[in-house]
Amino acid sequence: MIQVRDLHKHFGDLHVLKGINLDVNKGEVLSVIGSSGSGKSTLLYCLNSLEQIQQGSVHVDGIDVHAKSTDVNKLRQKLGMVFQQWNSFPHLTVLENVALAPRIVKGKSKEEAIAMAEKQLKHVGLGDKFKHYPNSLSGGQQQRLAIARALAMEPEYMLFDEATSALDPEKVGEVLDTMRLLAEEGMTMICVTHEMGFAKEVSDRVAYFHHGIMEEIGPPEQIFGAPQSEHTRKFLANVR
Ligand code: ATP
Ligand code: MG
Repeated sequence: MIQVRDLHKHFGDLHVLKGINLDVNKGEVLSVIGSSGSGKSTLLYCLNSLEQIQQGSVHVDGIDVHAKSTDVNKLRQKLGMVFQQWNSFPHLTVLENVALAPRIVKGKSKEEAIAMAEKQLKHVGLGDKFKHYPNSLSGGQQQRLAIARALAMEPEYMLFDEATSALDPEKVGEVLDTMRLLAEEGMTMICVTHEMGFAKEVSDRVAYFHHGIMEEIGPPEQIFGAPQSEHTRKFLANVR
């Protein structure tokens, strides 16, 4: 499980996360919503040590993420991450892109890495694209490639940072469907998202961030049906 305790993050004078407490259990899907600049991406980066923290702690399966002794590469293998836009290696095929990290980071044999890449590309519906180059894929396909690449590392958690925000509207659905599939398979997921339909239908819980504070967290029925916080209410009134 992921345990966040009294997490504070500053960028210079800017106090971006102001005492976050959060537990995410295995198998849980958490959606994180909130306005621009509220600290959603920063939270994800603190979970896999892409950002240092100034106070508090993050533990992933008991590993103290920010301890000096922690092997960050090993930690990051537990946490797959998909960003808004992922830059694949243009000179490698789709299959090679996915097989690369298992081979280099995990030390798998070439055959094992290829087999894993094939499996995960099929998983995300790109079974017919092995030999294509990333630039020949649509935006939605490129995001599914990014998901396959993360899955090929056999992560225990998947972190999504607005994985669909850069896509044309008609490409959003195929990526959300892939994320929904992972959720149904039991993957533990934290999804920063503007897709309220996804947050409502797929999440076990939804967290609303406001100016660096986790203003409210609860099941989608609460957040979307009966928000306890005035800020949550106002935010949702504007995004719908
Ligand atoms: P959005 O919905 O626009 O993606 P967000 O909730 O993800 O917003 P963050 O990216 O976490 O917001 O940023 C929170 C605040 O921290 C913002 O004011 C941002 O400008 C600032 N910030 C983020 N990264 C850095 C950085 N590397 N250096 C300085 N300030 C940063
Ligand atoms: Mg962000």
